[in-house]
Amino acid sequence: MRRPILTFPDPFLDLPSAPVETVDEGIRTLVEDMFETMYAADGVGLAAVQVGVAKRVIVVDVSPADEETPPFALVNPRIVSRRGAEEGTEGCLSVPGVEGTVKRAAEVDVEGQDEYGRAVRMTGKGILARALQHEIDHLDGVLFIRRVAPAKS
Ligand code: ZN
Repeated sequence: MRRPILTFPDPFLDLPSAPVETVDEGIRTLVEDMFETMYAADGVGLAAVQVGVAKRVIVVDVSPADEETPPFALVNPRIVSRRGAEEGTEGCLSVPGVEGTVKRAAEVDVEGQDEYGRAVRMTGKGILARALQHEIDHLDGVLFIRRVAPAKS
């Protein structure tokens, strides 16, 4: 089921999301709904807080740009290391019509669980690293517009 996406400046988006204690059927339904909502909106990532659920769950599908990475969901994702730095353009389904340049780590290692509660560890580079950092920021109540570098004149 598609869920409505909250948009800036909805104060709910500023809330830190709570860790998921038990990865159950409710989480799998949430993940399914998040994929449906993200695809309907043409996004490459979505955090649960964007559909009004303040739990640490994200979905990502960067496969149009990165064929080696199939779509995935992460529960309780955590960045355990960061390497390098890279600037890139970002947008967000919760900030429609706005793009900005954000400096992020070029590569990140992330740990978490899949939608069945199994431990997952992944390394992201390029657009995957950017999507992971952007979505995990949402779980801490941070929108990308807070990280946009000031315009160069
Ligand atoms: Zn976003």
